[in-house]
Formats: sequence, structure tokens, C-alpha cells
Amino acid sequence: MGSVRGCFFNDGAGVMQAAMDKRLDDEVRALAGADFSHIADSFANAGFQVRLPARGILQVVSASHMLRRPRLLLSVGIHGDETVPIEMLAHLLAALEREPRALAVDLMVVVGNIAAIAEGKRFIDADLNRLFRSERGSLASAAEAARADAIMRATANFFAGPDADKWHLDLHTAIRPSLYPTFAVVPAVALNTRIDALLGMLGRAGIEAAILNGKPAGTYSAYTAGFGAASATVELGRIGVLGSNDLGIAEATANTLDRYMRTARLEPHDVRPKVFRVAQELIKHTDAFRMAFGQETQNFTALAPGSVIAEDGDTVYRVGAETEYVVFPNPEVRAGLRAGLMVVEEG
Ligand SMILES: [Zn+2]
Repeated sequence: MGSVRGCFFNDGAGVMQAAMDKRLDDEVRALAGADFSHIADSFANAGFQVRLPARGILQVVSASHMLRRPRLLLSVGIHGDETVPIEMLAHLLAALEREPRALAVDLMVVVGNIAAIAEGKRFIDADLNRLFRSERGSLASAAEAARADAIMRATANFFAGPDADKWHLDLHTAIRPSLYPTFAVVPAVALNTRIDALLGMLGRAGIEAAILNGKPAGTYSAYTAGFGAASATVELGRIGVLGSNDLGIAEATANTLDRYMRTARLEPHDVRPKVFRVAQELIKHTDAFRMAFGQETQNFTALAPGSVIAEDGDTVYRVGAETEYVVFPNPEVRAGLRAGLMVVEEG
């Protein structure tokens, strides 16, 4: 698959044509189109309570009130052009659909920005992953705001009720190449409560680095961490055309999720991600914002103490007293939003 993907990216016009010509697996096409009809029938026939609270949202819970099963939320396509997780999850769900009684957790699946997935874009009006909060400022009228509301309502419902082990992995892919091809961002609210369990899960899932973000954020994983879930935004490789991704990057994650969904248990595992914490956020205040490095800069590229990171009119962002690593540099965001994170090694 890797070589096929390589040629797709040789010229822009060929990418769309290749995507249209490519025969997608039925399960990938269904999940990308937010179609849960087959899988919902399969779990319902196996005796589960199945709910479809909004388009692209599936909840499968045990019909028995005696059982207190872990609650696992898996979300994909919060950014519409991030297709590795859609393919990976489609295959996992298709396998479970064939033997639905194997499901050992209460499961919620969210296909995030359905309109953007259909167009192969990150978003339509505004980044959905900044809207999981009540204060939305100038983004309140964006097309994505109503979608965030629907997802938040269904999520609150899923994580309400008696105490259970709650998990949320919001699955993404990065725009840029990364020195750690798989990494996670852990929201502030998850830091004190379930950080050990979460780092254990991420290590099992083959995630190489974890960034602890102490700043409040309007991300989906920050929202779910507020319910006591062990939550993270997980980056699995890079954006690519649906159906042409090399899923090898997500293999360890897929295997771990598959096992967890079927056993509700995590086997002992010593490998943990390398841990970073956020040193500073780069906020793009005006359209004069310029970064001191090029578009090709990889995630986790090191910048020396004191060096200039970005300039925005009179504001100059500099590296502090220790080496900082740049993550998610994106000067194209709207003014007022985060244009990148600077992280330092923890401990
Ligand atoms: Zn993303």
C-alpha cells in the first residue's frame, strides 16, 4: 500500500481522480459516510441496546443493568481529511459486526465532521476541534457549531450514569511528518485523575510520545476528560486519501483496541510514551503572524534556547531557557487561534 500512496501524491490533479477511481472497501465507505445501518442491526440482533442519537453517532450498550462494563468512546474524522483512523476503525467494526457477542465494553463511535469528510477537507467553516466548549466567540455561527452540540449531547449521555472505567481516544492524523509518527495530546483535566491508566493504554497502543497540555482547550478529548474519562487526542501518521493509506502505522493501536473491545481488560505492558509538556502556545493574533521556519518542518523538531519561533507584529515568540520542540505548526489558522505548540521534555 505504501508505494501506491507514494504515486498518488506526485501531482495534485491525480489525487482526486485516484480517490474516485479507487474501489473502497464497503465498510470504509459506510463509516466515512456515517452509515451505521448494518452494524446497528447486527448488535441489536445480538441483544445489545443500540442507539443512533444523531447522524454518525452509534452507541452500543449492554442490555443488562447488572453488568458494569467499561465505556469506550472512539471518534474519527473530527478533521475531515484525516482518514487513517476511519479506515482502521471501519475494519475493526466490520470484524466485530460478524461476531457481535464478542463486544465486552459499552461502545460509542463518533464520525465527526461528516460534511468535511465527504469533501476531503479538514473542515467546512471552522475547526470542529476548537468548538467543544460553550464559549465559542466568533466561531459560534460556524457550520460546525451545531455538529459539536450534537456530539456533546450524545457524549454527555453516554458518560452519565453509574461509575465505570471511561475511555476516549479521539483518533486523528497529523498534517506534517513527525519525528514521532504516533503521538498523543493529553488534556489538562485528565492529568491528575487517570494519567497512569491512560499512559499505559497509549503505550500498549504503540503511541511513542504524549504531550501533557495543561491549558484549557476546546478539543473533544478535553471535553470528555471533564466526565472523568481517560482521554487523549491521538495522532496516527499523516493525512492521506481515503482508501490509499498505509495502515501499518496504526497496527499496534488497532490490535490494542480490538483486544480491549473483546476482553475489557488491558494486559500488563511496560512500554510508555515519551512524555512532554506544553511550554507555550503560539497564538496567531493578526494576519502578520510569521513563523521562523518553513512548511516542511517536522513535528517535534528541536529549537535551541532563546531562538525566535515566530513574530506577529510587535509580539516575538522565543524559546525559553531549555530546548523546546515544535508541534502542530500551522500559520494558516484564523487570527485568534492557536498556530502551534511548543513542548519540553518532562522530568
Ligand atoms: Zn486532526
